[in-house]
Amino acid sequence: MPNIAAVTPAERYPTAHDVGGLGRAVARVRSRIAAAAERAGRSPDEVRLLPVSKTVPEDRLRLAVQAGCRELGENKVQEAARKRHALADLDVRWSVIGHLQTNKARDVAAWASELQALDRLRVAEALDRRLASADRTLDVYVQVNTSAEDSKFGMPPAELPAFLAALPAYPRLRVRGLMTLAVLSDDPARVRECFALLRTLRDRARDTDPDLVGAGELSMGMSGDFEIAVEEGATCVRVGQAIFGARAVPDSVYWPEATRDRR
Ligand SMILES: *Cc1c(COP(=O)(O)O)cnc(C)c1O
Repeated sequence: MPNIAAVTPAERYPTAHDVGGLGRAVARVRSRIAAAAERAGRSPDEVRLLPVSKTVPEDRLRLAVQAGCRELGENKVQEAARKRHALADLDVRWSVIGHLQTNKARDVAAWASELQALDRLRVAEALDRRLASADRTLDVYVQVNTSAEDSKFGMPPAELPAFLAALPAYPRLRVRGLMTLAVLSDDPARVRECFALLRTLRDRARDTDPDLVGAGELSMGMSGDFEIAVEEGATCVRVGQAIFGARAVPDSVYWPEATRDRR
């Protein structure tokens, strides 16, 4: 096994500063997705690449849009709102992929293309109400905690069936599938278990009632583990650093429980 600990994040994830460089970074990620899909006997077309732009400044996001990125994922609503405003002249869909508080539901209902981190009925209720007054619908993924870590975000697998069964009460939400973050581990086997668990949960939910998980999408995999996720059935991978370069901000800003950076 390669000793990845010897490689610094900046070496592992170089930062491109022009349209060509960003385009090549996206192309490299796409070809790695395609190779992983082929290993698993899947079509690369089944996997959507969602570029994650948190902490990336607006000038570089303009270049990324020029390089072909038509949707961007942001973890925090405030940061997404600021960037959306600054890039309002561009044709970009904004995906919110981080935990949402009910007091931010109005923003998300007003302009987000989707929320990938739904894990509370109170949030579903707040969104549905705001969406109704905005006369919009919103694609949602239900976030599941597959790592058995004491995470503040994502619901325990045991609670998923009842949660899915409750969502039809919020008709403005279009359930697309499930989302997860794998365990913080350098052991690929443990990471793979998380992704396999999400797939199993999706399959079980579909067996119970095919309408409850929408298309049954699986949003899983990030820069450090998206190939494993694709092998395990991901239909959406959320990739930031492998496209935009290493982040200076530690992940604990986004995942309070992250005691060290994910690779
Ligand atoms: C930041 C983030 C990602 C992408 O992580 P990278 O290491 O930059 O690829 C994926 N999912 C969520 C929820 C994130 O906040």
